[in-house]
Amino acid sequence: MSLIVVGSMAFDVIETPFGKSDRIIGGAGTYIARCAANFVPVKQISVVGYDFPQEELDALKAIGVALEGVQIKKDEKSFFWHGKYHLDMNTRDTLETQLNVLANFEPIVPDSYQDCDFLMLGNLAPTVQSSVINQLKQRPKLIVMDTMNFWMDIMLDELKRTISMIDVLLVNDSEARQLSGEFSLVRAAKKIMLMGPKYLIIKKGEHGALLFHDDQVFVAPALPLEDVFDPTGAGDTFAGGFIGHLAKTKDISFENMKTAIIVGSAMASFCVEKFGTERLKEITKKDISERLDEFVQLVNFDINLVA
Ligand code: AMP
Repeated sequence: MSLIVVGSMAFDVIETPFGKSDRIIGGAGTYIARCAANFVPVKQISVVGYDFPQEELDALKAIGVALEGVQIKKDEKSFFWHGKYHLDMNTRDTLETQLNVLANFEPIVPDSYQDCDFLMLGNLAPTVQSSVINQLKQRPKLIVMDTMNFWMDIMLDELKRTISMIDVLLVNDSEARQLSGEFSLVRAAKKIMLMGPKYLIIKKGEHGALLFHDDQVFVAPALPLEDVFDPTGAGDTFAGGFIGHLAKTKDISFENMKTAIIVGSAMASFCVEKFGTERLKEITKKDISERLDEFVQLVNFDINLVA
């Protein structure tokens, strides 16, 4: 069951209270693809510049990521993002965004991608996200979309239009509040689901994630970790685990989405253990299965109700 992933492939500089990285490989699309490829083959749609390393593209190909939909612009630089985390490692400021190749990105869906049942729209301009939906001859079984405050600030109308076309929206808590104008996350979820998506996932960093559908809510914890080196890409890795699990099991029921947000949380817990995509590059199927067992232990309890 194949999956299309759309998202940025980038250079990042990351500052945390404990250190600053050099220019490293990042981008929402990179994290999603690296993570989802553990579950199903991925068909990537993105754009990079002349400066993006061929070795990185080769490494993605080697793990089952098709790159026919990745444009290489010979005269332009790759997207660049510089972020700085606060002491709590849960909140961050964007210090610099250089759109470069993303400024005029017009995605092209190759013919070989037309058979996909699952579409993951990573964080990118909402106009790019909707262009991919519009180019698909048959609507995928499930369209999941991530976005961020950057697009709410500069393209709110286009963003709302794209949100009306999808099935599952992923945002973090502050973005849910910004998009809905509501402080209560429950109220925010209700308002956002009225915009179109039948499912909403609100990511809360080290406090886990909430899955909303109709009047139902399910909570996935985040794994309490001793050391968090770099939260960058955790949200994208979560998305990759979520859609990767759904695409692998071909089951888009609410029950299976509950499992999928646990898988997403487990994958995100790896991502934060090292800088950039380093940790995602090392993990094995055995690591994933052991981490999922840890999650089961984390929330497994018996309760004796006192009448
Ligand atoms: P996350 O930590 O999951 O929110 O994702 C971080 C990744 O998103 C970084 O690797 C950045 O390169 C990428 N990113 C940051 N801002 C943008 C943007 N405006 N458009 C696309 N990708 C972005």
